[in-house]
Amino acid sequence: MRNRIIVQKYGGTSIGDVEKLKLIAKKISETKEKGFYPVVVVSAMGKTTDELVSMSKEVTFLKKPPDLREKDILLSTGELVSSTLLAISIKSLDKKVISLSGSQAGIITDDIHGSARISDINTARIMNEIKNDNIIIIAGFQGINIDGDITTLGRGGSDTTAVAIAAALKAEFCEIYTDVEGIFTTDPRIVHNARKLDKINYEDMLEMAVLGAKMHPRSIELASIYNVPVYVAGTFSNKKGTLITKGDEMENNKTVTGIAIDKKVSKITIKKIKNLPGTAASILKPLSEKSISIDVIVQNTPYDGFIDFSFSLSEDDLDKAFDILMNESSLEFDEIIKGKGFAKISLVGTGMQNAPGYATDMFIALGKEKINIEMITTSEIRITCLINENHVNSAVKSLHSAFELDKE
Ligand code: ASP
Ligand code: MG
Repeated sequence: MRNRIIVQKYGGTSIGDVEKLKLIAKKISETKEKGFYPVVVVSAMGKTTDELVSMSKEVTFLKKPPDLREKDILLSTGELVSSTLLAISIKSLDKKVISLSGSQAGIITDDIHGSARISDINTARIMNEIKNDNIIIIAGFQGINIDGDITTLGRGGSDTTAVAIAAALKAEFCEIYTDVEGIFTTDPRIVHNARKLDKINYEDMLEMAVLGAKMHPRSIELASIYNVPVYVAGTFSNKKGTLITKGDEMENNKTVTGIAIDKKVSKITIKKIKNLPGTAASILKPLSEKSISIDVIVQNTPYDGFIDFSFSLSEDDLDKAFDILMNESSLEFDEIIKGKGFAKISLVGTGMQNAPGYATDMFIALGKEKINIEMITTSEIRITCLINENHVNSAVKSLHSAFELDKE
């Protein structure tokens, strides 16, 4: 059944200045005139969040990190500025409109400041405003915890707000308007004949989320759980975008969908740690407790009862993770080595399942470019190599042509 609710999300560059914001105001009004109920989620304007982050650092003494509770309230103001300005603009077009902060929109989160997760959405207020025939503009990227404190969802989190709202309202679509025209086979800035995809399934998109539209991976996860169709398109473009939806396996004959690139990857190696039941857990638990995600893990075969244990993680978390492990008194090891300047290149495609040979072809292509592989990991739908960041462009170009991704 159609409820004609459409969630639209506009990213920071789409509302980068007042003129752009006014264009969006018109676009939203037109959606309403077509008979839909637009529920709009906005990011902060342009680089606002970056500026707030750096100001929060500048005011501290002794290089102390900013208090996380206060920082979340500070960062949430970026989206309050854009949502209220947009509402003011739409109102002046004589349209019924109301802006809502995350908490007014009923977005309840856990209490992990800086990377909070949405636990529930109380849709009563939004539904009421829809009944009142209001266009609704929601400040993205924020919610409220059970103590009544404002939380933020992590950088890029407005995508997740949008999909969560779309899921909660059972909206017909969640449209993500951004500064690229959709999802490409790989980064078009690196590979000039990268191709825009008409359609991509949730699984592949989750792997590709770091590219192109740079969608918040958690938003894709949510979309796939609640089966929300997500349409990604350029804000100021008339070209068709990309639909992210459930895969149609019968038609899935294209094996490799694209190449995902993840830069700013770092690596930690713990040298010579005793290989006992629970060793891996004792290394990773203190990190997960501090919400540090780790990625590729490599543990070598035990030698004299000892192993070397390596994993990759985001460069932003490297120093924090290193300090946590160095101060973990229960761990006994020879040394911990940290390194940055790596990138992850992944061949992505649900169609690769049960089809041998892709890994070999990938390694051959990289070998031809004389690119050393630091770590390898595979899943049913992905083959990932960790390489030196300096080799990203040549790696991606050679893989894009080796797997003929420029061709339909
Ligand atoms: N304004 C926030 C950020 O810059 C959230 C978002 O853009 O989605 O990270
Ligand atoms: Mg964003």
